Amino acid sequence: MFFVQTNANTQKGDSAMSDTYRVFTVSNEVMEGAEVDIFEGFPAIVIGEDDDTSFSGYAPFSSAVPVEGILDEQSRLLFAEIKKTRKGEMKFLARHRATAGDGVIVVIRATMGYEGFNWITGGCTGWQCRKCSTTGEIPCPPKTCPNCGARNFWSSPVLSFADFPGEILARGQIVSTLVGAGEQIIALVQKGGVFRIGYIHSTSGESRYCGYYVCDGTRITAVPSHTK
Ligand SMILES: [Zn+2]
Repeated sequence: MFFVQTNANTQKGDSAMSDTYRVFTVSNEVMEGAEVDIFEGFPAIVIGEDDDTSFSGYAPFSSAVPVEGILDEQSRLLFAEIKKTRKGEMKFLARHRATAGDGVIVVIRATMGYEGFNWITGGCTGWQCRKCSTTGEIPCPPKTCPNCGARNFWSSPVLSFADFPGEILARGQIVSTLVGAGEQIIALVQKGGVFRIGYIHSTSGESRYCGYYVCDGTRITAVPSHTK
């Protein structure tokens, strides 16, 4: 079942709310606009999933932000104003151009594989030892902590990440076929914001893939990761 989920932290001043933002979708690539689906009979950007036929043990759920206004021929939302309904729920008003140069709306449709987890964060801030909390700089964490010598799987240094650089407007969850789960989100990302989508294997804990993306205020661009 679909339901609308909103975030209490999205309240902004009137002037900011009347800006119109470019909309991008990030999945395995970056695309302009976002696909509009039908949700409870109305157009909406929908994330997450409802199909609970996997064996993952995690519950998927979808979430949606309703869309009002005229879309292009492909039913994609390219530019949108963010509005609150009288009940305090969020909606997107489709527009013909963007006025804001300090952020974009991004629909992150991270995918899931057979088994594993994904997580969506800000950029990499360095590494931290899980045993003694010693920190260090990127590009990569040492296999053995230079302070305490921790080196096994559960205590060795790992990468640390900044918070997601913007406001989360909606969250949904997808699940792996076998074991695992991950997020999909709709967010307003600020200019200069860097975010990362990482995937790890459920049992080995090994990082399988990650993507870094940067917002220049009007666009989202995939950037080469300096870490793996
Ligand atoms: Zn240590």
